[in-house]
Amino acid sequence: MVKLEIYSPAFKEIYRVDGDGIPVFKNYIAGEWVEGKAFYDVRSPIDQSVIARISIPTLGDIERALEIIYKYGRWDIRNLPGYKRLNVLHRTADLLESNIDDMVNSLVLNAGKTLGAAKGEVKASIDRLRRSDLDLRKIQGDYIPGDWSDETTETEAIVRREPVGIVLAITPFNYPLFDTVNKLAYSVIAGNAFIVKPSSLDPIPVAMFIRLLELAGFPRRALALLMLRGSDMEKILSDPRIGAISLTGSTETGLKVLKSAGIKQFIMELGGGDTAVVLSDADLEWSAQRIARGIYSYSGQRCDAIKLILAEEPIYDKIKSLLVEELRKVRVGDPRDPSVDMGPLIEARAVDEMVRAIEDAVSKGGRILAGGKRLGDTYIEPTLIEAPKDKLGEMELYRREIFAPIAVITSVRDVEEVAEISNRRPYGLDAAIFGKDINKIRYLIRHLEVGAIYINDYPRHGIGYYPFGGRKNSGIGREGIGYAIEYTTAYKTIVYNYKGKGIWEYL
Ligand code: NAP
Repeated sequence: MVKLEIYSPAFKEIYRVDGDGIPVFKNYIAGEWVEGKAFYDVRSPIDQSVIARISIPTLGDIERALEIIYKYGRWDIRNLPGYKRLNVLHRTADLLESNIDDMVNSLVLNAGKTLGAAKGEVKASIDRLRRSDLDLRKIQGDYIPGDWSDETTETEAIVRREPVGIVLAITPFNYPLFDTVNKLAYSVIAGNAFIVKPSSLDPIPVAMFIRLLELAGFPRRALALLMLRGSDMEKILSDPRIGAISLTGSTETGLKVLKSAGIKQFIMELGGGDTAVVLSDADLEWSAQRIARGIYSYSGQRCDAIKLILAEEPIYDKIKSLLVEELRKVRVGDPRDPSVDMGPLIEARAVDEMVRAIEDAVSKGGRILAGGKRLGDTYIEPTLIEAPKDKLGEMELYRREIFAPIAVITSVRDVEEVAEISNRRPYGLDAAIFGKDINKIRYLIRHLEVGAIYINDYPRHGIGYYPFGGRKNSGIGREGIGYAIEYTTAYKTIVYNYKGKGIWEYL
């Protein structure tokens, strides 16, 4: 049975231990760790045992957090000079580094990440905080002289960027720590207060991170952690005290948030599932290795996971068999075992959904080329399905994002057909192109309706060193260092009138 142990005394404030030995985590209400009156259990995907209990904030707690942050906290953070805000983020990075074992452990036990993936997420979070020094140059404005119109002659304007006040971050289960860190970094560099609502499936790494942020000296009245269920978020979303919402989650959740929230600023990093294109002159061994990783890494539970493979006819049979070989090598099991390549899915329901998608594909003429076998409640083999081209469009695997280690492959005549098949999917997050022919690559760069294209590698957003974000059902806006500042700030135009003062000639 999996049991959550937290060793560092740094985290003592944020939980107490229940009679049955289960830690009960508290919410952070603008300066205080507070226990609510109702609770929900958190299970480990490794064996489904309950590893924590989360106290849900009361309506009173939520109102208190919003009011303190609105009245005081957003000014506390805004009044902190930029270099001091940056120092807090850098100190938080140091604290993540000194508490790395507890952080990695929380990601392995709560999110079911392999040791390598969990270490990678903590390292990416540290790097992201340290690279906040690249965001700050994007806080820019304009100077506009008025003498290009006779109405505005003898006036001038500056256009400055200001923080929107409070950013509400809603984070998904798949990168609980990194997504919180990333949203925090660009919100706080821009001078905003920060409220985070993590996924109810794995909120523990987020609660631990908020404690480190507090210890690093983050203004206490400018911060809240609200561990509510998504279905209870409606009132908060529409609260006029919130200036921007940054959501990473499914397209379905994105639509609900947009409908409930009213007029605000948004960043929406939504569902995806990427296309990989294999051209006839590609290095096929390399392509197969990278595409396989794009399918199975973190059990396919990545927005940038490869879900559709389109291979040109002359190399179709070869890439298919190489991919099958690669996927058969993947060792599935307990993510605490360092020899394991792929751990569990986050919950049994996710495996059920993948099994249904396989059945749906097979009923429409699909053929299982690799995997397909369920290995336990939350475990399943990485799977490759071959689709007849004329049936692909009907398959769930094509029409929806199945958030699991599964992809569908079919052959294509030419790049025109690639663009046609890829663009008719409702999503537009990323694509990968494997090959050398610059004319074909150039054609695809121009025609694929996606937010990013990776040439000769599988899509990976990483720390957001390069900007990422979707088109169509995959979202609104861009994340990535420097690129999100525009969504967490608002322009303010200041017009100076010197008419009749006789000073214009001296400007
Ligand atoms: P999800 O079920 O949509 O949940 C995401 C977050 O939204 C959770 O915190 C969830 O809380 C909350 N939520 C659910 N319903 C809500 C509502 N009505 N109002 C406000 N918040 C609500 O997504 P997930 O399964 O955690 O994450 C996987 C999804 O995220 C995939 O679709 C993936 O593609 C996408 N994703 C996109 C990117 C990108 O960069 N585009 C990156 C990573 C992930 P509860 O957990 O309490 O329900």
